[in-house]
Amino acid sequence: MVIDQRSERNIKTLNPKVQPLARALIETATAQGINVKVIASLRTYDEQNALYAQGRTKPGRIVTKAKGGQSNHNFGTAFDVGIFSADSQKYFGESPDYAKVGVIGESLGLEWGGRWKFVDEPHFQFNQGRSLAQLRTAYEQTGDALA
Ligand SMILES: [Zn+2]
Repeated sequence: MVIDQRSERNIKTLNPKVQPLARALIETATAQGINVKVIASLRTYDEQNALYAQGRTKPGRIVTKAKGGQSNHNFGTAFDVGIFSADSQKYFGESPDYAKVGVIGESLGLEWGGRWKFVDEPHFQFNQGRSLAQLRTAYEQTGDALA
């Protein structure tokens, strides 16, 4: 099947080992009648710091506990999904489908944020058991966090 353009654009910024998992997640969910897209993926350290400021020193609600260099999103090993109506016209910030997609992701070997204490249902990551510090070092030295 063809992955929608928005998802594909985001998936292309991910680590090469994570890209096929993100595509398989969409394909499997689609086969189950769920319209899911990858709506966020790689973030620069600056972008992460801006997100961290939200709800703290900037208006809005707190959406992350990670500063720049402290999130899997900064290394191309994490992505966020969104659930959409069948015609893609409506985005659902909350939906029971997030949990269904979470189970699919876990079956593919992804870690799902829906299991965390700081619950983050749209979030998936793949880090081969590496710590954040290990990912950061590999990413900063080689550009490939999973090398
Ligand atoms: Zn995320």
